[in-house]
Amino acid sequence: MKTTLHTEWTVGDICKGFIYDKNENKGLFGMNGKLIIQPEYQRNYIYGDGKKDVAVVESLLKGYPLGLIYFVLNADGKYEVLDGQQRITSFARFVNQSWPFAVERNGKPRYFNSLDVNDENRIIDTKLTIYVCEGTPSEIQAWFETINIAGVPLNKQELRNSAYHGPFVTEARKVFSNPDNANMNRWKAYVSGDSKRQQILETALDWVSNGDIEGYMAKHRDNGDIKELVNHFETVIDWIDGIFEYTGKEMCGQEWGKLYRQYHNNPYAKDDVSSKFDKLLDDPFVTNKRGIPEYILGGSTEKQLLNIRVFDEATKRKVYKKQTAKAEAEGVSNCPLCAVGGGSNSKRIYELGEMDADHVTAWSKGGTTTEDNCQMLCKTHNRSKGNK
Ligand SMILES: [Zn+2]
Repeated sequence: MKTTLHTEWTVGDICKGFIYDKNENKGLFGMNGKLIIQPEYQRNYIYGDGKKDVAVVESLLKGYPLGLIYFVLNADGKYEVLDGQQRITSFARFVNQSWPFAVERNGKPRYFNSLDVNDENRIIDTKLTIYVCEGTPSEIQAWFETINIAGVPLNKQELRNSAYHGPFVTEARKVFSNPDNANMNRWKAYVSGDSKRQQILETALDWVSNGDIEGYMAKHRDNGDIKELVNHFETVIDWIDGIFEYTGKEMCGQEWGKLYRQYHNNPYAKDDVSSKFDKLLDDPFVTNKRGIPEYILGGSTEKQLLNIRVFDEATKRKVYKKQTAKAEAEGVSNCPLCAVGGGSNSKRIYELGEMDADHVTAWSKGGTTTEDNCQMLCKTHNRSKGNK
């Protein structure tokens, strides 16, 4: 790969013919069409938050350097921004007044055309430090993944989008990476992450590929047909909607793709699910509320999903003491199950450390995790009871 350093290009040169796409929140072209600001493998513009974009322009006004910018020289003689897209989009938005924002100058908010001429010139005459790289796509790709510089590092899915860029990624992003998609709010009840950071797309790919995102992207890379991806995602969302009424925070970011695969052939009654769900949410002994959906889907048997509250040490000691005093007085084992078992342990007095606490009435049958529902059993008996 060959790199050439350019220090002669100014902010004004880059801003010539700047085109900004308001719908997709991204800068498209600069340098009179010679510069592609957002190639498809780049992330969406995320500096437009009224802080980072303002900071870029204020840096220019103060004469601070903006840092290194990297372009790739394509075979057709055009440049693509490899790194610097966020900074370029910020200053070009400001200078060209596309979706304009104000910066503070001498205590007042100013748009570009309300700055005094010296300040305007200071910005547009700023010389940038730009490396132009030439090389094969794989060389540039490998290097791009390595540098991962300036500002927010690329996350996993952003890197995948660059590695597998092509018609499939382009089409998929229109659906899953677009915050203005009308379905986004409904999806976000169940899927966590930021659509602009490609995390909704990542989830959709994870679900349809059963965890093999790279394999799926490689297979579909050159095909702009995303029907299967969209259909599978919507099917899973509809499935969740069809079973659960509850849309609280515990529903967000579950491994719905896996749960769908495992349980979508089972019938569920929404009313019944809903009342079970409410009861578990209110149950103070259920310490892992996020386990509720899977617990219900699985037939309400895997109670380790709920991380039911256990007896504390003080309660265990108290019950142990009481139980042992009584057993010693009666000349039997302090494990009530050993005592009635008639075996070699029927008179054995266990140490506290040889015993575990057990719910007399099981939690699943309404038993509470309180002293009056606690008994100490030897470890062997406790284990065999727990397995029933
Ligand atoms: Zn026992």
